[in-house]
Amino acid sequence: AGAVSCDNTLRRAARRAALSRSRGRGKYELKINENYKNLSESYLFSTIAKKVAVYTQQHPEQEIIRLGIGDVTLPLAAPVVDALHAAVEEMGKKETFHGYGPEQGYGFLKQALMRYYARRGVVLAENEIFVGDGAKSDIGNILDLFDVDNTVLVPDPVYPVYVDTNVMAGRRIVYAAATRENGFLPMPQADVQADLIYLCSPNNPTGAAYSRDQLQAWVDYANERGAVLLFDAAYESFITDGDVPHSIYELPGARTCAIEFRSFSKKAGFTGLRLGFTVVPKDLMCGDVQVRSLWARRHGTKFNGAPYIEQRAGEAVYSEEGSRQVMEQVAYYKRNAMVIYEGLKEAGHTVFGGINSPYIWLKVEDGMDSWEFFDYLLEQANVVGTPGSGFWPSGEGYFRLTAFGTYENTVEAVSNLF
Ligand code: PLP
Repeated sequence: AGAVSCDNTLRRAARRAALSRSRGRGKYELKINENYKNLSESYLFSTIAKKVAVYTQQHPEQEIIRLGIGDVTLPLAAPVVDALHAAVEEMGKKETFHGYGPEQGYGFLKQALMRYYARRGVVLAENEIFVGDGAKSDIGNILDLFDVDNTVLVPDPVYPVYVDTNVMAGRRIVYAAATRENGFLPMPQADVQADLIYLCSPNNPTGAAYSRDQLQAWVDYANERGAVLLFDAAYESFITDGDVPHSIYELPGARTCAIEFRSFSKKAGFTGLRLGFTVVPKDLMCGDVQVRSLWARRHGTKFNGAPYIEQRAGEAVYSEEGSRQVMEQVAYYKRNAMVIYEGLKEAGHTVFGGINSPYIWLKVEDGMDSWEFFDYLLEQANVVGTPGSGFWPSGEGYFRLTAFGTYENTVEAVSNLF
């Protein structure tokens, strides 16, 4: 009984303290960032999960094939695992232990990246490359450098991070519709003024990729208008078409207007490890301010560097054997993409993407919307995909399937459609 009464005393005291804290709040007028209230709730993946759970309960005998998520399924390549092991051993020995590393990334990784770019005819300086923990963080963090008064242009449908990070900051967003008519590749419009322009090529979710001429038009437009291109090349390793640039810097003029984001996630299966990098060329100026030096300052202040062992793993991705093996993995996913693309076409569907991308963008059956098609596909083929409307309005009427499943499941999913 003593313990109970003691408990109650403590509870009463805690309540009194909470009350006085809440009374104090008004006085200090702490303000939250009201822009967060303008974020639209993302029900996409939770709604998918609920629908699948209900279906599984009703049809326990059916095996569901998931081609909805954008996560990889193959394990890390052997040279990457070896590099991780070796780096862990180093960390366990006094002579080879690594503490804080250089904030922008280790020279060994940046040199490997520079050699890779040089093979594509792109010359980068070591201090133009910033190693980070994945493209998503850098895509969000880069906005620290730009005033909220800037207008941003995002493609629609869109990788939701571009929209939400700008809504959080309260920036004005204009949309460039990616439709069947423009090949899902919006081009510059003379009457649209934007300061920050997001380009994602190869694109998530549509799988479309800009040709050299199309990207050159964006580079020229950005230079004329004094805009900055935020070029997301997360799916670069899936490019098949010789006319699709792997880097924005393959185009003349890009060094004065573009920032490029790269990821190890889809190229080498690092979705769980976390590693990426951002390129900010020295020639990119805003008035008399070098954007690279602002990003260096921001990176150094708010980031303490990606882990040493992961940067060694990243280096292994660009070794001769590492490159060979990760490209084999990419080829595995690309084969899945072709199975889906060709299979759906044969089944009479209208399909896009898949050639330079792990994403297949499928026109839904006439008379259905994206969610109705989701139900149809789940019931007819036991396949789960992602309704296009989840990626913004122009995605309505379309459906995204991914090539990241196993080959066997992918073949089965397609055969279920016949
Ligand atoms: N950019 C696009 C277009 C993506 O689809 C993704 C992940 O799905 C990312 C960036 C994020 O990549 P990371 O895993 O390196 O954060």
